[in-house]
Amino acid sequence: MQRSVSIACFVLVVTSAVAYANPELIRLQTDDKQWVMPGKDYSASRFSTLTQITKDNVKNLRPAWTFSTGTLRGHEGAPLVVGATMYVHTSFPNNVYALDLNGPDVGRIKWKYLPKQDPSVQAVACCDNVNRGLSYADGKIFLSQLDGHLVALDAATGREAWKVENADPKVGATMTSAPHVMKDKVIVGVSGGEFGVRGHVTAYDIKTGQQAWRAYSMGPDEEVLLADDFNAANPHFGRQNQGVATWQGDQWKTGGGTTWGWYAFDPSLNLMYYGTGNPSTWNPTQRPGDNKWSMTIFARDVDTGKAKWAYQMTPWDAWDYDGVNEMILADLTIKGKLVKAVVHFDRNGFAYTLDRTNGTLLVAEKFDPDVNWATHIDKGTGRPVEVPAMRTQAGTNSQGICPAALGTKDQQPAAYSPRTKLFYVPTNHVCMDYEPFEVKYTAGQPYVGATLRMFPGPGGHMGAFIAWDAANGKIVWSNKEQFSAWSGALVTVSDVAFYGTLEGYLKAVDARTGKELWKFKTPSGIIGNPMTYVGPDGKQYVAVLSGIGGWAGIGLAAGLEGDTEGLGAVGAYKKLAEYTNLGGVLTVFSLP
Ligand code: CA
Repeated sequence: MQRSVSIACFVLVVTSAVAYANPELIRLQTDDKQWVMPGKDYSASRFSTLTQITKDNVKNLRPAWTFSTGTLRGHEGAPLVVGATMYVHTSFPNNVYALDLNGPDVGRIKWKYLPKQDPSVQAVACCDNVNRGLSYADGKIFLSQLDGHLVALDAATGREAWKVENADPKVGATMTSAPHVMKDKVIVGVSGGEFGVRGHVTAYDIKTGQQAWRAYSMGPDEEVLLADDFNAANPHFGRQNQGVATWQGDQWKTGGGTTWGWYAFDPSLNLMYYGTGNPSTWNPTQRPGDNKWSMTIFARDVDTGKAKWAYQMTPWDAWDYDGVNEMILADLTIKGKLVKAVVHFDRNGFAYTLDRTNGTLLVAEKFDPDVNWATHIDKGTGRPVEVPAMRTQAGTNSQGICPAALGTKDQQPAAYSPRTKLFYVPTNHVCMDYEPFEVKYTAGQPYVGATLRMFPGPGGHMGAFIAWDAANGKIVWSNKEQFSAWSGALVTVSDVAFYGTLEGYLKAVDARTGKELWKFKTPSGIIGNPMTYVGPDGKQYVAVLSGIGGWAGIGLAAGLEGDTEGLGAVGAYKKLAEYTNLGGVLTVFSLP
């Protein structure tokens, strides 16, 4: 009797360990022949160990095949490759295509999923109706739709396995970011920081779609989900009740802090990392206080959603410096000590290196020297030391603030090479004048309250692709770009780094020196993320989505489609019309 009980217990333990660990994804994320999650691996490194394409032969890269996505607006994100199938997403209405990678009909459509969405949801997408891609796990493809639905599709057939509503467009909440699968959960955020949406991240069971937990960015602790030891290592970052006490009245209920970026996961710590966006409105005079936990890096337990630590980068935001940008996990040697780090390039122009086990701030330096709203980050308090003239306030037009609301970097994700120990970062170099004004909250209506003018930063260029040393907080090299570098980055073990430009070039550079090795003009401006894989034929391929749009391209997109300028349209980008045109196209490159 005793014996059978202990066997039953043993079986139970083993079963739950298998269900939670998701060994399939642990294995797949390290198989560089495939690309099964948005950031390539759980660390979001966008680093590949594939070696066929080298510094010497990359000049011979040429298109192997192409695919029109059939939609016109901005294409952010990257396709996935799982086995011999590529999964491609599009801008609204967020179609999904499964393409056969087997020859001779490479690129043949195995299935397509064409969701029916109410077109009116596009009116509450602040900055073009983009989508940042898909995730894979357990034989399913996960899609976040603009209309707030999370859908699981059978990867083999494209049939819906389950569908849940995660966000309500009637209050301005949409979904543009990629879902992220961690263990047995698919975790999604929301967009709508310009509509007074109260941000949250939510975990769903990958098999059933049943909600496991939801954690808000602000509000009562039991809704922000704080662990008992929350911020124990850094109590000066704030501990209990900050999600209400740092707001006036009940402003936290429309507080923003949306969650539309790229997440990372450390399986050994069981922690996920992501950032929260700007507090709503854009008028700081209207919402005095630190506005926690907007503009914050969160580390949460994946099973419970409970926050282990949180660090707010931009207290009382006055610039729309959303903190949602990607989190990249890297083990770095800092002052002679090996540190489990999380590295984050924020919209506010500072690159942060923190101890990811407990949130301790290790490095925070400008990754564009022209950043001028703050002189530095005080390492003791963790707070920025602001330049008073650059703090915006209602009734004043603050001029010459760098960076602009677009940030020194927006969502375009950086890559990390453990070989060079450098981060490859696509950046913006745009400044602004900013005048906040009083605005009333109406559910589902823009809740912005600021007039902006954006223009190229000092030197006249609007972007750069840089290599960053996150252990020391230093730029190693920098390649100027005429327009913002609004594509993601890819780096390989052969020391080749790839990124795209708004004119439409896919470029390859030497990861050690930045020297340009190759470029190719794709059919439209690139705001997608280059990726690489090995096809069934054994060859290494590089693929990227073109399709101008997103915040950088929305002025252009609106102009080309003849409608009014979107929110925050950037006049300087209108020059882009001389270089490119709308339209989603996948281009897949290989050596001859
Ligand atoms: Ca924002």
